[in-house]
Amino acid sequence: MTLKPIQQTHSTCCYCGVGCGVRIASDGQRVLGIEGDEFHPANLGRLCTKGRTLPLTMTPTGRALYPEMRTDRRLPRQRVSWDEALDTVANRFADIIREHGRDSVAFYLSGQLLTEDYYVFNKMAKGLIGTNNIDTNSRLCMSSAVMGYKKAFGADAPPGNYEDLELADLLLIAGSNMAYAHPVLFRRIEAAKAADPSKRWIVVDPRRTDTAAMADLHLAINPGTDVALFNGLLHLLLWEGYADRRYIDAHTEGFEAVKDMVREYTPKLVADICGISDTDLITAAQWFGQAKAVTSLYSMGLNQSIQGTDKNLAVINLHLATGQMGRPGAGPFSLTGQPNAMGGREVGGMATMLAAHRDIQNPAHRSEMAAIWGVDYLSDTPGLSAVDMFDAIRRGQVKAVWIACTNPAHSMPEQALIAEALKTAEFVVVQEAFLDTDTVPFADVVLPATSWAEKEGTVTNSERRISRVRAAIAAPGETQGDWWIATQVAKRLEKHLTPFKMSRFAFDTPEAVFNEHRKTTEGMDLDITGLSYALLENQGPQQWPFPAGATTGLARRYSDGVFPTASGKASFHAVRHIGTADKTSARYPFHLITGRLRDQWHGMSRTGRVSQLLEHVAEACLSMNADDMARRGIQSGQLVKVANARGSILVPVEASAEVASGSVFLPMHWNAQFWSEPGANRLMPAKADPYSLQPELKHAAVRIDVVNLPWQCVAVRQGDVDELMQAIRPLLKQSRFASATLIGRENPALLVRFADESEPDGLINALDTAIHLHSSPETQDYLDPARQINKRGRWDAGRLTGFRLAGETKAADWLSDVIRQGGEWRWARLQAFAPRATPPDGSYQPAKTVCNCLGVSEATLKQSIAKGCSFEDLQQQHKCGTQCGSCVPEIKRMLQNAPRILQTA
Ligand code: SF4
Repeated sequence: MTLKPIQQTHSTCCYCGVGCGVRIASDGQRVLGIEGDEFHPANLGRLCTKGRTLPLTMTPTGRALYPEMRTDRRLPRQRVSWDEALDTVANRFADIIREHGRDSVAFYLSGQLLTEDYYVFNKMAKGLIGTNNIDTNSRLCMSSAVMGYKKAFGADAPPGNYEDLELADLLLIAGSNMAYAHPVLFRRIEAAKAADPSKRWIVVDPRRTDTAAMADLHLAINPGTDVALFNGLLHLLLWEGYADRRYIDAHTEGFEAVKDMVREYTPKLVADICGISDTDLITAAQWFGQAKAVTSLYSMGLNQSIQGTDKNLAVINLHLATGQMGRPGAGPFSLTGQPNAMGGREVGGMATMLAAHRDIQNPAHRSEMAAIWGVDYLSDTPGLSAVDMFDAIRRGQVKAVWIACTNPAHSMPEQALIAEALKTAEFVVVQEAFLDTDTVPFADVVLPATSWAEKEGTVTNSERRISRVRAAIAAPGETQGDWWIATQVAKRLEKHLTPFKMSRFAFDTPEAVFNEHRKTTEGMDLDITGLSYALLENQGPQQWPFPAGATTGLARRYSDGVFPTASGKASFHAVRHIGTADKTSARYPFHLITGRLRDQWHGMSRTGRVSQLLEHVAEACLSMNADDMARRGIQSGQLVKVANARGSILVPVEASAEVASGSVFLPMHWNAQFWSEPGANRLMPAKADPYSLQPELKHAAVRIDVVNLPWQCVAVRQGDVDELMQAIRPLLKQSRFASATLIGRENPALLVRFADESEPDGLINALDTAIHLHSSPETQDYLDPARQINKRGRWDAGRLTGFRLAGETKAADWLSDVIRQGGEWRWARLQAFAPRATPPDGSYQPAKTVCNCLGVSEATLKQSIAKGCSFEDLQQQHKCGTQCGSCVPEIKRMLQNAPRILQTA
C-alpha cells in the first residue's frame, strides 16, 4: 500500500471538558502522532498525559467494526449489513411505540458525542417520536451545575472564561481535583500563581489530593458538608462587613432570606459539622472578603450529590453577596467533566430540557421548537432522567432503549439494578466504538460508530468555546458517524410514524446538522447565528453567544449585572445543610469516596489500552488512612472486602496520607473488563438530587473487612497486549478475586492476578492457554503439588518474556520489573522460582512511574531528593514534569514530604 504523505489535521482532544486543541499527524489511514495546538485558546499548545497518548489508543482490537445483531439472547450476535441493522432498529422501535406508546422507548446518550450527533438524537426523540425520554451520562456529571446556574441566573453555563482563572487573585476550588481531572487548566493556574505568588488558593476537599496539597489553605471537610461550609463562609462575610450592598441591591433578589438563614451557621457550628478548625474557616472568609477578584471552580465533588444543586447555589450565594461577578477574574465556574457535556446542554439533549436552553414545560418554547421542526406535537411531560429511566426499564414500563457512546452498566449507581434493567428490556441497541465495555454484552443490536480522529463535528468546552472536531483518518471497518446512524434510523422511523412527504432528517453532512442547530438558537441566550463551519475554519474556536453580525463571541457574561430572569436580577437561594444519602453507622462506619486518577479516563475503554498510562497506577486499590489500618490490623497489599447493603467488592488496600481517618477512597475507573468486580458504583446509592436528578456517585457508607484468600497466582506475558487482554477477560470471573492490567513502556506486557481459597479447577491451564505460556523448550517449570505451587517461566533468546507463579508469588514484583525493563536475564533460571522478594543481586526497588512522558520513576526521584535536590534540580537532571506537567504536583508533594523521604532513604 502506498502511504499518503503525512498530513496535519486540527481537531480537539476527546477526553475532558478543558477541550484542548490538537494537531493530528496521519497518513490518512493511521494516526502517527499528536501535538497540542499552540493557537487553540484553551491549551495554547499544552496537552496532558491522556491527550499526548491518544495515538496509542488507536488499536483495532476490541473496536466495533461491523453492525451485529441477535434475535435470540441465548446466542451470540452475528455480523449483519447496515440496512438489516437499521431496518431492525427502526421496525422494533416503531412496533413498540405503536403497541405501548411514545414513552415506551428511551435514549441514553453521552457527553462524549459531538453536538451534531446529539442534535439528531434529540430531534428524533422529541420531534419525531414525541417522547422526552432522552437522557445522557451528563446527568451523572454536571446536571447540578446546570440547575445551579438556572436557578440563580436564569440561564445555564459559566459566566466567565479560562482567562478568569488566571486573573483571579483568589481561587476557591471545591470538590475538584483539577490536577488530575482538568490537568491543562491546572497548568494554567499553576503558571499564573508562579508568576504572581500573592495569588491564593483555597481547596475544599475531604481528601488531600494533589490539588489540595498545593493550596494555601486546604479545608478537609467531612464528606457531604459543603453547604454548611459555604453558609458558614457567607455568615462570616456578612458579619465581617465584606458584603457588597450596592451589588446586592442593584442586581439580586432574595438576599434577606439568605441573610436570615445563614445567621444560624456560626463558625463554631460549621467547624463542628465540617470537621475543620474555626480558625481556618475565618481565614478562608477573610481571604474571600479581601480578594479583589475571586473565581470559584467546582465539579463532581459538588455535583454528584443528593444536594448537588444546593451546593452550587451556596457557592453562587458567596459571589452574589460580595459582587464577585461579571468582572475579570470573578465568578462561579463549573468545570465540566466530559468533552461535550456543554454541547449536549446546548441542543437540549436531556430529559428535562428542549433545544437551545428552552424548557419542556414552557408552552412558548414548545411552540417555537415545534415550528422550527415542522411538527404539531411536542410532549410537555418531562422525560425520564438517568436513574429513573433504568428503573422504568427494569419495571417493564420502558421496553426499548438505545444507548450511544456510554457505558451505564459501569457508570450508573447500584450497578446490579442496571444489569437487571438491561436484561429485562425487550430491545437494547448499543451504538459504540468499542466492543469491550460492560454494556455491550446486553445489546441485541450493536451499531459500530466512528471515534476520535475519525469523526467530524463540533464540541463546546467548559468556557462555552465551540471547536471543530475533524477526521484525520478514514473510518475503520464499516463504522459510521453517530449523527449518520441516528439520521438513517430517523428516516426509516418517519415512514412508520408520520405522514410527512418530505423527510425532516435530510442531513447529508454534520455541517447541515450544525446549520439547523444554529437556527434553533436565534434570540436565545446562546445565540450562535453568527457562527458557521467556515468561520470556525477561518477564525478558529469561538465562545458563545455569537449572534449574527458579531465579530467575536462573548468572553464574559453578566458584566452589566443584568440576568436573563423575569426581573433581570440574579437570585439568592436559602439552602440548608442536609449531608449525604448514606449515613455512617456502627454497621457501616467508613465514608467511601470515589474519584479520578491522573492518567485514566472514565471506564478506561481508551486509556486502559495504553500501558504507559497504567505505569502511574496499575490496578484498582483502596486508599485507607494508616492509623485506621493499624487499629484494624490491616497491612498494605492485603485484600479487603468493601461492603454495604447494596453489595460488596474485593480490592487490595494501601496506606495513604491523602485520606482522613474514617474515610477510604476508591477510583471510579476500574470495571469488569479489568477486574473481577463491576466497579465502585456497585456500592453507590441510586439516590439523586431532587432538582438536578443527579445521583450521588461520590459517597457511600461501607464497612471494611480483611479477606484471607490463601491461593494466589500472578502471571505476566509479553506480546500483543490487546490480544492478551481480550483473551484473559473471560477468566476474570473464575476466581474470587482477579485483576488484569498492562505494564511497561517500551516493552508492554499483560499482568494478571488471581486469589481464591484454593486453586480453582482448570484455571491454570486456561490461563496458560490465554497468555500463550504452554509448556515448550523455551519454558521451565517448578512444581510442588503438595503445597499447590506451580510455577512456569519462559525465556526467549535469553530474555524473560513471561511467567506464571501459582501458589507462591513472592518474586512476582521483581520478575514483572525484569520484563518491564526488557527481560534481560542475568541469573540462573531456577532463581526465578525462589520465594524471594528481590533478585539475587538485590537490585530491585519497587517503584511506580511518576513522570509518564519521560518515564521517571518514584525511586529515581526519591534518590535525588535524598541528595538534597530542589524541584529545579530534579527538572534539570531528569527532565521530569517538563513535557505535559501532569506529574508536577506529585513531585512537589514528594519534596514537601522530603524529611520523611530522607529518613527512609
Ligand atoms: Fe485532553 Fe488532557 Fe486537554 Fe483534558 S486536559 S482536553 S484530557 S489533553
